[in-house]
Amino acid sequence: MSAAGNSVLTPRRIEYLKFLLEREGPVTNAEIAARFSVDPSTCTKTVRLLVDAGLVEHAPYQGIGLSEQGRRCAEFLLRRHRLLSLAFSRLGVDPAIACEQATQCEAHIPRDVINTICAALGHPSCSTCGVIARDRACCSTEQE
Ligand SMILES: [Zn+2]
Ligand SMILES: [Zn+2]
Repeated sequence: MSAAGNSVLTPRRIEYLKFLLEREGPVTNAEIAARFSVDPSTCTKTVRLLVDAGLVEHAPYQGIGLSEQGRRCAEFLLRRHRLLSLAFSRLGVDPAIACEQATQCEAHIPRDVINTICAALGHPSCSTCGVIARDRACCSTEQE
């Protein structure tokens, strides 16, 4: 993730990007607004910021989707969320609470810390809240 990408990624925007990745297709402003219980005009503003950051594409009549850069970024965000959530649940936290608390604290945890956690957990492929994508730089060292 670039430095520019980091500054734009507030917790709410992280949730938008993860949502767009999981939906795997263009969504409407109204769908995002409904998902996050925000006013459509608030949602429009956030989407515009993400478009300006190069993470989201919003072509007229085609809905809102991730750009190539946004997809790579969102894949990391989802991997980070799921690794943190798994780490909490392995420490005894109830999976639903682990997922919720990971969402609360994930925004500022850098990639190298996530990769350290990934290694400590044995490069898991599945969390309590979904599939964990492998990171070539982190998880492929296993076979070497
Ligand atoms: Zn989760
Ligand atoms: Zn790994």
